[in-house]
Amino acid sequence: MNYKNFPMVSKVIFGRGSFNQVNDVLAPKRLGIHSPFIFLIDDVFKGNSWLTSRISLAYDDRIIFVSTKEEPKTAQVDDLVEDIILKGKERPSGIIGIGGGSILDLTKAVSIMLTNDGLAEDYQGWDLVKNPAIYHVGVPTLSGTGAEVSRTAVLTGPEKKLGINSDFTPFDQVILDSKLTRGVSKEQWFYTGMDCYIHCVESLTGTYLNAFSQSYGNMALELCKEIFLDDKLSEEEAQEKLMMASWHGGMSIVYSQVGVAHALSYGLSYLLGTKHGIGNCIVFNHLEEFYPEGVKIFKEMLAKHHISLPQGVCAHLSDSEFDIMIDVALGLEPLWENAIGIDWKKTITREKLKSLYQRM
Ligand code: NAD
Ligand code: ZN
Repeated sequence: MNYKNFPMVSKVIFGRGSFNQVNDVLAPKRLGIHSPFIFLIDDVFKGNSWLTSRISLAYDDRIIFVSTKEEPKTAQVDDLVEDIILKGKERPSGIIGIGGGSILDLTKAVSIMLTNDGLAEDYQGWDLVKNPAIYHVGVPTLSGTGAEVSRTAVLTGPEKKLGINSDFTPFDQVILDSKLTRGVSKEQWFYTGMDCYIHCVESLTGTYLNAFSQSYGNMALELCKEIFLDDKLSEEEAQEKLMMASWHGGMSIVYSQVGVAHALSYGLSYLLGTKHGIGNCIVFNHLEEFYPEGVKIFKEMLAKHHISLPQGVCAHLSDSEFDIMIDVALGLEPLWENAIGIDWKKTITREKLKSLYQRM
């Protein structure tokens, strides 16, 4: 047995209002007056002076507002890297991402591509990155994906949706300030929160489970049940707890894997551009045969929060479009092996996946 040796986020600040310390955290990391800090911020915060006034820009530092209408693309990473190199006199001192999973992944990928040759698509896969990334900081404003702790930066490329998984991917610093999650819409809060819940179910029922993943998974699962099914928490407590659930859910899958919902949801996302959180919910709603208890509780959560999921998203697809989704899903072999076991190919056939997609 060859045990994996994973890096973790090396520094973390937790607390409401902790984002106020961002300038103090960054100051010792400045490499020189021509090495700027680049802030990649979700453009939903454009004009939000509460947030931007907390950032003191000095020398050549700059803020780049990024749209998250679509999930991050490899070409978008390449464009940002080119822009940062062309406009900067020297390599940046650090890249700071402020946003949900999309911005966090973009930030990880940009910081890697600033020190590695070629295109971002060349690094989609496992352990292809050669050089350490630029110092990078993650500031989540939406909780659930676990992108703040994970070893991957998920990108859609010309050929596949797959992460840059490497020892250089995790953040050097994370700032967990639940105040930043205040403005999220109820639907988005639910969908991204369910990403965390689904991470837990897939990790805890998977064949890759071990005590490391189980302990984090159980903590996150209990937090999700408290947040999404109990009425006892104040809004602030719920925001803080979801931030920690996201963290623990992410830690749980670092040492195991996700499963059926993620495999199928990647297919939806690749073909239809369905975003990760809502895509997982659309898929998970039909997975009773794989996750009976998890889906039952999920449906209670849906009902409690009056969330109605889109129906018939695959109703008008052609056979060749189903084939594209099936190819993407089946390509994610470790997810199936975790969910079903080493013999997964016996039961997970193309026909089986097509019949699942047809229900969505
Ligand atoms: P997101 O980052 O795509 O954001 C969703 C929406 O919420 C956007 O419209 C954004 O503008 C808005 N938003 C974010 N913060 C807000 C705030 N405080 N107030 C108001 N609006 C806000 O959503 P997400 O679900 O966090 O991330 C999805 C992405 O994460 C996908 O690209 C997925 O592939 C990736 N992901 C990565 C990992 C990983 O381990 N790296 C794990 C799971 C998912
Ligand atoms: Zn996920």
